[in-house]
Amino acid sequence: YFDKETVVFHKGKFIKAENAVTDLYTQSLHYGNGIFDAMRAYDTPLGAHVFKAREHYTRFLESAKRMHLPVHYTVDELISITYTLLEKNNLSNAYIRPLLYSGANMELTPAGEGNLFIATWEWEKYLGKDLLDIEISTYTRPSPKSGDVEAKISGNYTNGIVAAATAKENGFDDALLLDVEGFLAEGTGANFFFEVDGKLYTPQKGHIFPGITREVVMEICQDHGIEVIEGKFKPADLSNIDGAFFTGTAAQITGIRSIHRRNMNKPWKATLGYLIAEQYGHKVAQNEYDTYSII
Ligand code: PMP
Repeated sequence: YFDKETVVFHKGKFIKAENAVTDLYTQSLHYGNGIFDAMRAYDTPLGAHVFKAREHYTRFLESAKRMHLPVHYTVDELISITYTLLEKNNLSNAYIRPLLYSGANMELTPAGEGNLFIATWEWEKYLGKDLLDIEISTYTRPSPKSGDVEAKISGNYTNGIVAAATAKENGFDDALLLDVEGFLAEGTGANFFFEVDGKLYTPQKGHIFPGITREVVMEICQDHGIEVIEGKFKPADLSNIDGAFFTGTAAQITGIRSIHRRNMNKPWKATLGYLIAEQYGHKVAQNEYDTYSII
């Protein structure tokens, strides 16, 4: 993720990544009390452009508020720091990871103002370029009654880590998780869509992380007259489907070849997911989403 030249933003300063140090008594290490977000910059004809930067940093500040982690930066300041960081690292096609980690505190009480860290690096599509063979995990997503599933909390990700590791042990690429009520929820780090008879279906909000890519897919569908039905679906609803895909900033649009060894009815290139992946590629390469750009 970094080399000798890499610059990060840490505690108010741009410094070399190799010189960035943290406190071993932070609650974030011991209890997972940190929040983060993830966005991507794309090389466009007008220079580097951070896709949906405003939406991502608004969500970042909302996650901080929900975890009682005070932060004094505004969305505009965070966006501006991000563009400076890209410039300092000479990157225009990059993944961007802001993290707010808590101070030293071994008790389960608020730990004061969060420490801001922002890093950026070049990162391929997270789930790989190939189509995925996935299982339905025996782990469920966390219940919204036991924590905040709509905030991007570091500790929430232990769920995805065990589910993905178990899927790999079982010979799959990744997993689809159910919610605590047995309905389809999402992937380990991405939202889920499936296609039947020219319509798309996706789990409704409530037990899922409401992804920004998921919203963009809905926009694309609206533009192309594709119906998307949000609802509560069971694993049995996947027994005879034409296509399926994951969506996320890191994963982008990643097609699924099989679920529990059962192949999709259509080849990937004949599915709505493929069409949407192409449209998504066009959308991220445009500069119309916010007023910020390096040049
Ligand atoms: N669900 C989970 C559990 C995730 O970790 C992510 C990635 N942040 C998503 C969905 C997709 O969110 P987004 O499209 O905003 O990246």
